[in-house]
Parts: sequence; structure tokens; C-alpha cells
Amino acid sequence: MTGDAAPLVATRVSPFLQERVTWVRHWTDALFSFGTTRDPGFRFSSGQFVMLGLEVDGRPLPRAYSIASPSWSNELEFYSIKVANGPLTSRLKLIQPGDTVLVGRKATGTLVLDALRPGRTLYLLSTGTGLAPFLSLIRDPDVYERFARVVVTHGCRTVADLSYAALIGEDLPADPDLGELIGERLIYYPTVTREDFRNAGRITDLIESGRLFADIGAPAFDPAADRVMICGGPAFLRDAKAVLLARGFEEGSLASPGDFVIERAFVDS
Ligand SMILES: Cc1cc2nc3c(=O)[nH]c(=O)nc-3n(C[C@H](O)[C@H](O)[C@H](O)COP(=O)(O)OP(=O)(O)OC[C@H]3O[C@@H](n4cnc5c(N)ncnc54)[C@H](O)[C@@H]3O)c2cc1C
Repeated sequence: MTGDAAPLVATRVSPFLQERVTWVRHWTDALFSFGTTRDPGFRFSSGQFVMLGLEVDGRPLPRAYSIASPSWSNELEFYSIKVANGPLTSRLKLIQPGDTVLVGRKATGTLVLDALRPGRTLYLLSTGTGLAPFLSLIRDPDVYERFARVVVTHGCRTVADLSYAALIGEDLPADPDLGELIGERLIYYPTVTREDFRNAGRITDLIESGRLFADIGAPAFDPAADRVMICGGPAFLRDAKAVLLARGFEEGSLASPGDFVIERAFVDS
């Protein structure tokens, strides 16, 4: 053996892709959405989340973010809170088209169709930015191939917080590509807790009282027919899970599909 073997060169692949912001839409002082380019090699299932961030002082500052766009889209979309003094969002809220954001190479999460057993109606229950993963799923044709009806609820404090109401209620059913598939099968049920509105009160209360089912013309929750995904704040997750367990629903995961799956929309401090 001679000693002229090639030297080992350590090449480190960044865990983040660099994507370009393509549009930004501010809904309120506390909520905004934005789109980015999508690396052709980046794969995810509709409903999953990814680490998203900005480079701050030469280092990545990432947070978990649900991808709001469907897996077939060649752009990525995110729906974000603006936390006052939040390390990431106090900076992220300032992004403009052309800026760079960091997107983790690996998506993950439990809000995926394969974590649920087959069923007839899919309920997507959300509060606040917990709507984000469902914006991905309701734009995925696979959802309508697996379920006869899809009910998406969005609970917020005020009507102004009901971002995407026009997209879900009007644009998607009229969409030239998805409209025919969606037809009348996508039911949008927004509700607010701090103002008068056609639907008012917490989603879990509207389920318990039977009002949700009466309003949409559906039978009450039945684990034989209904499948449920839940995403929102900690109190909502706790209450919604208790409602489902009391009705005989079993929690699922990719390893063991069930009747419902849950994901946190954020971690409380
Ligand atoms: C699985 C998962 C998916 C997530 N998806 C999203 C998403 O799609 N959109 C999004 O905006 N955030 C999402 N988050 C929250 C996100 O990771 C950050 O917490 C958020 O971007 C704020 O970052 P920050 O650094 O500004 O403040 P942080 O220091 O991260 O948060 C400060 C505090 O603000 C509150 N808070 C944080 N995020 C939210 C929120 N979304 N709604 C209400 N209160 C909040 C909490 O009390 C938190 O302790 C997700 C979190 C998890 C765990």
C-alpha cells in the first residue's frame, strides 16, 4: 500500500433548502400568509409540517410550520401568526417577495390520510393557524377520492380572523381544476367566539350540543363512518380529543391507522 489515498473531505449538506418568497398577504395585524418557490426534490404529503425559518446573525432560526399548499403544487404556502416579540415571527412578518426563507428538507406529521382508516365523512377541526394543514388537504384530490364529504371547521375569536373564508367557501368549489371533484362535498363551517356571527361558540360546544350536525345536515359523530383530524391550540386539542374518545373513536398514527389524528398548532410557553 502506498500512502497516497485521496484525503477525506467532509461535505456537510445543509438541513435547509433556500426558497424565494413569491407573494405575501397580510390578513390582520396578527395573521399573514406567504408563498415560496419549491425545490423540485422536496417531497411531502398533504397535511405535513416542516421546519421553516430565517437566517439570523448567520444561523438558522427555525420553527415548525404546517405546509398550507397541497403536495401536487409547485409552490409552498404557509399561514402564520405574528407573535409580538416572537423570535421568528417578529422578523418573518417583514418578509417581501424576493426574500429568502429556509425550509427544512424533511417534512413530517400525523395529519395525513394514511393515518386514518377508510370512512365516509372527513371532519377537519381547527382553531387559529391550525387551519393550515387542512388548507393543504382540502386542495388535494386524494381527499375527495377517499371521502364522500369533507367538513372543515375553523374556530377563531373574531370574523376578521377567518382568513381563507373566500377560498374555502367560494373559490375552491368554483375552481376550474378541482371544482368538479369538490362540488358540494366540501362543507365550510367557520365559527367565532367573541362576536355575533352566523355560527358562534367553541367547536367542541357546537359538537356536544349537536348544533354543528344540525347546521350541516349530518348525523352526529359515529366512529363507524366518520374520521377526524384536529389541529389547534392546547385547550382545543384536549377538549376535542375528549369528545371523540367519549364517542368511541380511536386515535391513529401512520404506524397504526385509526379514527382520528391530532397535531399541535403551536407549543404553549
Ligand atoms: C407541529 C407544529 C406546526 C406548527 N405550524 C404552524 C403554522 O402553520 N403557522 C404558525 O403560525 N405557527 C405554527 N406553529 C408554531 C410555530 O412553530 C412558532 O411557534 C410560531 O411561528 C411563532 O414563532 P416565534 O419564534 O415568533 O415565537 P415562539 O417563541 O415560537 O412562540 C411564542 C408563543 O407564542 C404563542 N404561539 C406560537 N405560535 C402560535 C400560533 N400559531 N398561534 C397562536 N399562538 C402561537 C405560544 O404561546 C408560544 O409559546 C407550529 C408549531 C408546531 C409544533
